[in-house]
Amino acid sequence: MPPKDAKILVTGAGGFIGGHLVAKLRSLGYSNIRAVDVKPLTYWYQRSDEVDNRVLDLNRRDACFDTVDGAHTVYNLAANMGGMGFIENNKALCMLSVLINTHLLEAAKHHRLPGRFFYSSSACVYNGAKQTRTDVTALKEEDAYPAEAEDGYGWEKLFSERMCRHFREDFGVVTRVARFHNVYGPHGTYASGREKAPAAICRKIIDAQMTGKPLIEIWGDGEQTRSFMYISDCIDGLFDITNSGIEYPINLGSSELVSINQLVDIVESIAGVRLDRRYNLDAPKGVRGRNSDNTLIRKELNWEPSVKLRDGMEKTYRWIWDEMHKAGNESVVNLT
Ligand code: NAD
Repeated sequence: MPPKDAKILVTGAGGFIGGHLVAKLRSLGYSNIRAVDVKPLTYWYQRSDEVDNRVLDLNRRDACFDTVDGAHTVYNLAANMGGMGFIENNKALCMLSVLINTHLLEAAKHHRLPGRFFYSSSACVYNGAKQTRTDVTALKEEDAYPAEAEDGYGWEKLFSERMCRHFREDFGVVTRVARFHNVYGPHGTYASGREKAPAAICRKIIDAQMTGKPLIEIWGDGEQTRSFMYISDCIDGLFDITNSGIEYPINLGSSELVSINQLVDIVESIAGVRLDRRYNLDAPKGVRGRNSDNTLIRKELNWEPSVKLRDGMEKTYRWIWDEMHKAGNESVVNLT
């Protein structure tokens, strides 16, 4: 565990997970945090004036070398990413995030980073052929090979995982890698085109409540299955993995499997509404089924994500509700 005055660098700190990580580090008493993102500060989801906030493009090698200088630990959460609607249509942009992690690793090597280097990988590294059924067998870490990752985004993650391994083995940078499975919660995007299913479903249902149109569009037939991890589990897990002896990429995800239709049922019941469902079979859908096998994380950390989907969605829905009402439209129509 780094000392409380050690310089901790969080990249992608203006984003969803990075913002929550900075908040957690502050709550743990870390007093020397450097937070970096390419977005202007006004677009960061969370921001603290107690932190050394920097706006930098980490695709640039010089920016990575400057910002890693003096750091004890690096959490790399910066990437060009989003839900299926984004990653299916922006494969080159997703692949270009390889520059961020590669330059950060080079900088960590150059500056002889004394602490850990954390890389945020994804369940999108897993072989697509193992995700063709809704009643999927949960994915174990070894299921990433033989490699057939999600085109674009998943291949970049798999390559960067391997870069972390080789920088550890060849250059002594102490890397740690977690494969996040769908993370959701407050203080993230819900309407930018990069949002993922939990936030998108909340937004659509709140939108129906605000406009009085009792209809929701669902991407695909709604029978595709996933697991969703609440943000607090993600932050606790990534912090513990970083400080653990786990040298190989490890799943960090909930194992509570639901179909998208069931996720809509949950949010409808939180909202107290029932909507007509229109299925858009041409929309991006991703794999047919995906779940996290948590055998390894239970063995290593004696822990796994445990926030129930219903509980996490309740908080997420309330936050998006407040945000959408702050944004101007105060009228709500009773659809029950
Ligand atoms: P996010 O989009 O909210 O945050 C990523 C941040 O990186 C953004 O704020 C973005 O501006 C920043 N960024 C992009 N390019 C940059 C650059 N060149 N220089 C500096 N900053 C840059 O996404 P998130 O959900 O917080 O994801 C964080 C990490 O976790 C990403 O690596 C993502 O691939 C990974 N991940 C997330 C999920 C999920 O469900 N959210 C699942 C699997 C993996």
